[in-house]
This record gives sequence, C-alpha cells and structure tokens, in this order.
Amino acid sequence: MPKQFIEDEIKKKLTPEQYHVLREKGTEAPFTGKYLNHGENGMYTCAVCGAEIFSSDTKFNSGTGWPSFNNPANTKAIKLTEDRSQSMRRVEVSCANCGSHLGHVFNDAPNQPTGMRFCINSACLGFKPKGAKAKK
Ligand code: FE
Repeated sequence: MPKQFIEDEIKKKLTPEQYHVLREKGTEAPFTGKYLNHGENGMYTCAVCGAEIFSSDTKFNSGTGWPSFNNPANTKAIKLTEDRSQSMRRVEVSCANCGSHLGHVFNDAPNQPTGMRFCINSACLGFKPKGAKAKK
C-alpha cells in the first residue's frame, strides 16, 4: 500500500492531538492526559496499531505529569532511538510494530526496580483491561 494512503488512514482514526504526538513526535501538555491517574489492571496498547506496549504492573506515579512505567511489556514491543532535538540528548521511545512516537525514557527513577522512567504520552495509548479479549 502507498505510504501516503496508510498515513491518511492513520490520521482518520486519531484525534488531531493524537496524530501530532504519535506521528509528528509531539508531546502532550503535562497533567492533561487521560491515563495519568488511571489505575486499572491491564495492558496499555499503541493507539495506532494496538500492540501491547506497557503493563499496568509497571506503572507508577512519577509526579512529572505523564504516565510513567518502569519497563516495557516486553523488550521487543518498543524501539529506542537517540533524540538530539530541542538541545537535549534524550532517548526516544517508539512502537516497534508501527514506528509511532510514544515518549522518552529516562534513567532517573532510583525508587523503581529498574531505575528507569518510561515517560509516555496518554495520547499514544489505548487500554485493554485485564481479562478482556484482544482488540485493536
Ligand atoms: Fe504501534
């Protein structure tokens, strides 16, 4: 399928804010996302492709204003890339399956078992409650 066609289909199923964050590497404003204080048990999924990317078991309150996880659902679920934009040196987190931007990972959570803080935009996530059937 032509790339532009795929991109147009993705655009149709996302809100303009979601599209900006996921496909143009944007960042949602802190303390605004719908999953920030979400405490249900289950799996967080990629809002574009439905891949399971973070488990609620690893979610914690980092106080930063974005949903935070100490580990991905599995190491193959996400892709890490060096990001030197905005005069910073960060590590970008994206969906390994579809390449959509998810957020960044920082090594600044010493109170977490992994020491890591995956700082993920709510706009990039879907949620599948524990026990629910798989759906996109
Ligand atoms: Fe994806």
